[in-house]
Amino acid sequence: MKKTENKHVQLIIIGSGPAGYTAAIYSSRANINTMLITGPKPGGQLIQTNEIENWPGDYKNLSGIKLMDRMLNHVKKFSINIKNDIIKSVNFKKYPFELYGEENIYLSKSIIIATGSSTKLLNIPAENVYMGKGVSTCAICDGFFYKNQNIAVVGGGNSALEETIYLSNIAQKVHLIHRRDQFRADKILINRLYNQIKNNNNIIIHFNSYILDILGNNKIVNKIQIYSKTEKKEYPINVSGLFIAIGHIPNSEIFSKYIDIENNYVKIGYNDLMKTQTSIPGIFAAGDISDNIYRQAITASASGCMAAIDVEKYLSINKYN
Ligand code: FAD
Ligand code: NAP
Repeated sequence: MKKTENKHVQLIIIGSGPAGYTAAIYSSRANINTMLITGPKPGGQLIQTNEIENWPGDYKNLSGIKLMDRMLNHVKKFSINIKNDIIKSVNFKKYPFELYGEENIYLSKSIIIATGSSTKLLNIPAENVYMGKGVSTCAICDGFFYKNQNIAVVGGGNSALEETIYLSNIAQKVHLIHRRDQFRADKILINRLYNQIKNNNNIIIHFNSYILDILGNNKIVNKIQIYSKTEKKEYPINVSGLFIAIGHIPNSEIFSKYIDIENNYVKIGYNDLMKTQTSIPGIFAAGDISDNIYRQAITASASGCMAAIDVEKYLSINKYN
């Protein structure tokens, strides 16, 4: 039975990634009565990476877990009400706005949506059969299980290259499968990949290639079936694991009935004085959920800061509502 939170707060931040935590720091310093709902992934996407090299000021030994832990401690320094809950649906027609979580119902005069994005999948049936049984979306979490084994990574962006390099220090051989003949990743990572190939000699790149199927005995994976556009032929590769790193989809579905969304991204920019406002006044969005271009930790944090400043403005204009 769900407990209703009768008393509303001034602001609820949905999400505990860099955007949500930064918004919380700024809103509490503006004396806004704030609640932060962590969601299914406390710390957000960054907890999946063991090395962050582009967070200004932190130039050595910075893992995602370490950075997000420090952000959480920073949030805890202020009087923020942190709830471990997942929002399942919302009603933005009511005011104060209503959020329906797995645990509770929450009411708030303003909302910052900072729900980020989730890993995109290949959309082949076998991927669901073998998820957690040979198919993974997180090298840091699951890489260790593939020590000295042959595995594959699919994708050509920063995530895929980082995961390939990381896994090549654990696995015997890593096959990197990419659908084009050029990587989308940053130059520094491409150079690092080729250096790793020179040093470790255990990464095999398959350009212009697609994964057609994942094969096994329903309990473990033993091969993937590939199609090469260059050679115009199918062939199998023996692997016991496949890491999917083909990008992310914004977590916007629960809001889609109420606010404007384009290609799954929450649209902002409806108010010249409050740039992070969505199509409904009082509802703001920050981070990857509303950013189809930059999608970096620093840009997510920066927009979390902007959203909190916008909320402060909104609440002071609407203080008698
Ligand atoms: P996210 O980090 O995605 O956080 C979203 C939050 O919303 C989560 O806490 C989740 O629990 C919560 N949530 C989701 N749905 C709900 C719900 N229904 N109810 C309540 N809460 C919900 N960027 C860099 O700048 N440098 C890097 O080195 C780097 N490395 C990366 C490595 C990997 C493997 C990946 C995947 C990404 C990396 N990025 C990196 C990108 C960076 O992680 C993202 O840009 C950033 O995390 C986005 O922050 P965010 O707060 O917008 O969203
Ligand atoms: P991304 O940049 O969107 O790259 C996704 C990759 O997967 C692309 O190479 C894409 O191919 C491929 N792909 C997409 N759909 C596919 C499909 N259905 N089948 C096969 N391949 C498919 O995603 P990302 O690498 O996860 O990065 C997301 C964001 O996080 C980016 O902004 C990135 O900069 C950031 N990030 C940063 C760091 C860092 O700074 N160190 C690390 C990780 C992530 P195409 O190239 O052909 O489109």
